[in-house]
Amino acid sequence: MISIRGLSKAYATPSGKLQALDGLNLTVEKGDIIGIIGFSGAGKSTLVRCINRLEEPDKGSIAIGDTVLTGLKESQLRQARRKIGMVFQQFNLFEGKTVFHNVAFPLKVAGCDKATIRKRVCEVLELVQLGDKEKAYPSQLSGGQKQRVGIARALVNEPDVLLCDEATSALDPQTTYSILELLRDINRKLELTVVLITHELDVLQHACNNVAVIEQGKIVETGSVDKFFLYP
Ligand code: ADP
Ligand code: ADP
Repeated sequence: MISIRGLSKAYATPSGKLQALDGLNLTVEKGDIIGIIGFSGAGKSTLVRCINRLEEPDKGSIAIGDTVLTGLKESQLRQARRKIGMVFQQFNLFEGKTVFHNVAFPLKVAGCDKATIRKRVCEVLELVQLGDKEKAYPSQLSGGQKQRVGIARALVNEPDVLLCDEATSALDPQTTYSILELLRDINRKLELTVVLITHELDVLQHACNNVAVIEQGKIVETGSVDKFFLYP
């Protein structure tokens, strides 16, 4: 479902060139729930920005299914971005919009009609167990509820991949656990490929089937979570 080959990205800094991604390779199978784990500075954010095309890689390719994201024109990019649902650490909700309108936003941008929007938004709000909160504003919700709205918004366009960037890092352990349960649930129910970018071992242990370790801009180890936790 995801195939990344030879991905490189350097930043120009006052002290010279900084190789944030260095020929990174990664394959994620359809329906997997995989954690990409690494310390601060390993290249996680740069990888995410290359995948959602906020950043242009220097070299290499990224494909989601049959669609090669790298090298797309601006006009093709908008369509391709819909293949990836993004969930963020700080939720990134519109504070002035209700839950309903936050979740509806990607569908409005995509030009869907009102009946379709209503149906889809209600479906995904049920899925994240917020069916009764559609008229609430983000300020009236707990952190965990806000992230459920973020997940609903990421799912509303029926993406091929759900990409969660430190999605539980702003939450307390109990809430983290319930969000990870929800992501597992979505992975199973929708057979959706889920990628969790994280610096926390807990996230791997509670949510993922597979692990990829990122270090100095490369994937240095991959395998099942069970195998990963056998090592000291
Ligand atoms: P992580 O998300 O794993 O902490 P990043 O992708 O943010 O890693 O960073 C990888 C490396 O690239 C780090 O050394 C970081 O300092 C550097 N870096 C990230 N963004 C920039 C930037 N805009 N300009 C210069 N260096 C950057
Ligand atoms: P616009 O911003 O274009 O005026 P609307 O406010 O009419 O759009 O909302 C678009 C769709 O969302 C409509 O189908 C409307 O019925 C539905 N909708 C709007 N607010 C809510 C809400 N709080 N609960 C349920 N459905 C809503």
